[in-house]
Amino acid sequence: MTRDWLLVSPQRTQRPWQGQVEKTAAPAGVAYDPTCYLCPGNARAGGVRNPGYTSTFVFDNDFAALRPETPDDHFREGGLLIAEGEKGICRVVCFSPNHSLTVSRMDVADLRRVVDTWVEQYLDLGAKPFIRHVQIFENRGEMMGASNPHPHCQIWSNERLPNDIVREQASQSDYLHENHRCLLCDYLKLETAAGERMVCENASFTVVVPFWAVWPFETLVISKRHITGIDELENRERDDLGEILKRITTRYDNLFAASFPYTMGFHQRPTDGAEHPHWHFHAHYYPPLLRSATVRKFMVGYELLAMPQRDITAESAAERLRAIPEEHV
Ligand SMILES: [Zn+2]
Ligand SMILES: [Zn+2]
Ligand SMILES: [Zn+2]
Repeated sequence: MTRDWLLVSPQRTQRPWQGQVEKTAAPAGVAYDPTCYLCPGNARAGGVRNPGYTSTFVFDNDFAALRPETPDDHFREGGLLIAEGEKGICRVVCFSPNHSLTVSRMDVADLRRVVDTWVEQYLDLGAKPFIRHVQIFENRGEMMGASNPHPHCQIWSNERLPNDIVREQASQSDYLHENHRCLLCDYLKLETAAGERMVCENASFTVVVPFWAVWPFETLVISKRHITGIDELENRERDDLGEILKRITTRYDNLFAASFPYTMGFHQRPTDGAEHPHWHFHAHYYPPLLRSATVRKFMVGYELLAMPQRDITAESAAERLRAIPEEHV
């Protein structure tokens, strides 16, 4: 009906912690939690023990939604029931050995190591012949379904382009063909000139509440230089990426004086070997909060059945985020 695809991963029900909410035994602010499966030296659900890592740490997800050994099956029934086997690799990236940190509270030098790890992973996974898309994303906070507060992100990489990537690719590709310019380069110029949806910027990145924002305090982090992927960031830009992520997440924390929940992720060119000159590297932040640390926006009713609706304008959300200090208060 919608021409969208849906990823089905029944093997994930084998996760031993399925159905239970993992409350960490250690109080907030503790650098090491003996019950955390991401802390250095601790055992994970599959029985594997983490090394005593001191910086970032990457491992294959023990209960991955996508697996490299999935067969190339095809299922067709009556032209209406369509399914395909989908290979992929899912990994977890711990940002720091320190259980108590968040991106907003990490040092810029440590965030640089996280950026370097993202680049390495994008290149490593993207080089595999069956991997055509690499999605790096962070779920932060219990409200977003992240049961473990240890600072980490996930990387899901797979054979076929996911729905949202197909849509953004078509928009950017069509715009380039029609205008002979890049969609996000033009959009960034427009937003910079208008100013009313700008939140913050550094030498390499601009953060705006996008004109088409759906979530109340949704933001878009756009690279100032036209690059198609995270691997094209230069030395200085890698530092600047860590810095801008720290600044926007600190603003979020200060907005409602709470550790702010969100889903964030990067969008960039697929790793199918094509050049994709139309792709412009960016990150989306989708935070659910609306009025306070406990009042969230729900995507239900009309939103679920018809189209999204906003309660505050993009301009007023940007104005509030602009007015907030970039140091923790
Ligand atoms: Zn931990
Ligand atoms: Zn561009
Ligand atoms: Zn995007």
